[in-house]
Amino acid sequence: MSYNITAYSTALFSTWVNIEELNLLFDVGDGVSSGLLQKARKIKHVFISHPDRDHITGLPQFVQLNAREGFPKIHYPKDAGSFPAMNNFLKQFDPHVIACEWIPIEDRERIEIKKNIQVEALRNEHVQCPVGVHKSLSYKVFEIKQKLKPEFQTKTKREIQEIVATHGRDFITYKTEKNILSFSGDTPIDTYSKWDGSEILIHEATFLKTEGDAQFESKGNKHSMLDKVLKMVSEINVNQLILTHFSSRYHKKEIDAAVLKLIKTYGIQIPVHVVYPGEIKRDILNASPINE
Ligand SMILES: [Zn+2]
Repeated sequence: MSYNITAYSTALFSTWVNIEELNLLFDVGDGVSSGLLQKARKIKHVFISHPDRDHITGLPQFVQLNAREGFPKIHYPKDAGSFPAMNNFLKQFDPHVIACEWIPIEDRERIEIKKNIQVEALRNEHVQCPVGVHKSLSYKVFEIKQKLKPEFQTKTKREIQEIVATHGRDFITYKTEKNILSFSGDTPIDTYSKWDGSEILIHEATFLKTEGDAQFESKGNKHSMLDKVLKMVSEINVNQLILTHFSSRYHKKEIDAAVLKLIKTYGIQIPVHVVYPGEIKRDILNASPINE
């Protein structure tokens, strides 16, 4: 299945990523409603990585326009106090938004967003806090499939129906899952295995060079460097890469040159897409990758 992914992502200013077919939104930065217009109404599940303002300030308008009984469901890292504060404020500001649901989640928790589609939260180290405290999360989307056990594969349709009638469907099937998409949120590079096997990886790459920036690192929150992201991707299994969250200090041409150089250095063969600072990129996977 191909996904229509639209994103805006510029470090410090705003990040949001919409996967249309999954009725899914990662992060709710400024401009998400004006960027998606009526498409925003299709969103049922929102997963927010952390409470930095560039990931949440689109909430007032998004919730105001789209609140309906039980939706959207807004999932957030359970120990980040900004979310209950925002929820309380918004309910007073626009009383009808009480219809939408706010759900605190933690590391390894899974939420079913559609039949056979689950989103798993994974702790990351963007915000320094003790293990067991959840302030910053990455997310992985899984597609669950029931497959016929090998010993039943030669049976006829009729035989299968009889077995199911007697023993139930679970008796003849086993569960497999595919990591169809992963969203890093803001994070430093973590263990490579975290993203290994992601069909689509959306990863932040705030910095092109090794220097940090007091503006971004003021709270000690950690980010990724392009070089390290591409090195990691070259050593794991990923089918498509979308780079996001670049600092606005970099010009488009500078980003292109750096990405292309590193793709060569690390011998990366998969399509690599770039979400440039200051630009909404629509239907990303159907656009030409930078390394076409
Ligand atoms: Zn950010």
